[in-house]
Amino acid sequence: MPCLFCEIVAGRIPARVAYQDDTVLAFHDINPQGPVHVLVIPKRHITSLTDLTPQDDVLVGSLVRRARDLAQAEGLEDRGFRLVFNHGPDAGYSVYHVHLHLVGGRKLGWPPG
Ligand code: AMP
Ligand code: ZN
Repeated sequence: MPCLFCEIVAGRIPARVAYQDDTVLAFHDINPQGPVHVLVIPKRHITSLTDLTPQDDVLVGSLVRRARDLAQAEGLEDRGFRLVFNHGPDAGYSVYHVHLHLVGGRKLGWPPG
């Protein structure tokens, strides 16, 4: 079965795109966990955090800085926001293509559920 997020990158499955460039795509989560919930992904398929190599350091940095920029654009800089990478069953990792969650716009509990 094709990777869901690769299908979104290819434009074969629709998404509400918030940002894209040559290497990064950001789109709104279909099941938002807050007023703002955006997924920031590499356009290239990487299955999970455990597959990252030192060659991906710049890419990972760009995911984090893009999520930060989107948070600022959503007006979340002062009130705060959260960035999350999940991996594996305990974290509920469900789409096997690396993605960074940006969640904000409400008070977020800690520790997370
Ligand atoms: P994770 O649990 O970290 O694997 O997160 C996967 C995320 O992808 C969940 O928050 C889902 O709501 C989200 N998701 C699943 N399918 C879609 C889709 N077609 N468009 C946007 N977000 C999706
Ligand atoms: Zn993929």
